[in-house]
Parts: sequence; C-alpha cells; structure tokens
Amino acid sequence: MTKALIIVDIQNDFLPPKGSLAVADGDQIVGPVAQLMRDPRWSCVVMTKDWHPRDHISFACNHGLADFSRFQYQSPVKPGETQDATLWPVHCVQNTWGSEVAPELESSFAQLEVDHYVVNKGYLADREYYSGFNDIWNDHRTELADILARHGATDVFVVGLALDYCVKNTAISAAALGYRTTILKDYTRAIATDEHAMAQLRLELVQNDVQLK
Ligand SMILES: [Zn+2]
Repeated sequence: MTKALIIVDIQNDFLPPKGSLAVADGDQIVGPVAQLMRDPRWSCVVMTKDWHPRDHISFACNHGLADFSRFQYQSPVKPGETQDATLWPVHCVQNTWGSEVAPELESSFAQLEVDHYVVNKGYLADREYYSGFNDIWNDHRTELADILARHGATDVFVVGLALDYCVKNTAISAAALGYRTTILKDYTRAIATDEHAMAQLRLELVQNDVQLK
C-alpha cells in the first residue's frame, strides 16, 4: 500500500479574513494540514494551486456579471456541450498575493524530506477547473496523474479547500483513475455547510467510490 497526500488549494484567496473567495473557517485547517503532511505514512505529497490568468473564464467580472452569478459554460472542444456553473470573484491570479499558499504551509512543505510537488491548475483562460487532475471537460490534464503513477501510489488522501468544489472533484478524479480514495474531512472546509448540501455531497461521494472520514 503506497499512500499519497493531495493538499488542494490552501491559498490566501480561499482563506479568511482577507481572501477574495474565503471559505468560512478555512484558516482553521492550515496548522493541522502542516502537521499532517509531515506524517511518515506518505510516499509523496502534492499541493495543487488554483493558478488563473486575469482573463479567466470563471471570473464574473470578465462577463460583466455579479460575483456568484450562475453561468452556462460552452465546451471549448466539444461544440454544443454545456455545463451550468457559478462565476466567482477574481481569485488566485498568477503571481499575486492571493495565489500564494498559506505561509505556514509553504514553509512546512519546503522542508519535507519525502518527494513533494506543486501542481498548478486553472491556467488555461478558456475553461474552468475544479479537479487537480483535469479541467471540467476532462480535456486538458495536469501532471498530477503522472506523479501518482511514478510513485506507484495505491491510496490517495485528499484535504484542503473547498470540500464541496475542488476537494470533492479532485477525489472523484482520483477514484475514477482507480486509486482507493479518501477525503479526510477534519482537514477540509466547505462553502455550503447546510444539512441538505452535506447530504448531497455524501451521496455523490458514495456514488463515486470516495470515502469521507
Ligand atoms: Zn478558481
């Protein structure tokens, strides 16, 4: 059993109090995740980063719409295919404060003795990404799958922000690739935390062979 840890998007813009798209209580997981990554059980540790150009399609302002508007994306590769989604405030723009990993996490990560990698996502302007493995059309792939394969990973553990977007979708991608996949929920925080949303999330994870514990 070879275990990999994937830390999703613990970047300044997703963290209170100053992040432009802060996840409530997201700052509470920074210290615990910094500890978790030092656990000797990991054969490799990967941090994903949302890494957008300013003209990214997921920013509401680029469509002249209000933040959190609903929007229908058109596939850039499959004509006629659409997906309904939420448009976001500007966040995690490349080489800005908002896209930097939380400082405490960054320094712990740099000191890891085990192999560790940063995987950027969201850098193609014409498409949205939630998963650290691929865009929402499953057309463009990051290097994350190659890293796991190179390490002979069998089990993948996913933590970070936000549970109901990028953590969920990264875990579902990992499970679809055949990894035994677990989200460690104490090391995540969600955007929607009401009971209905959490019940829906649990169901979706079960249907996609992802454990939540
Ligand atoms: Zn984003």
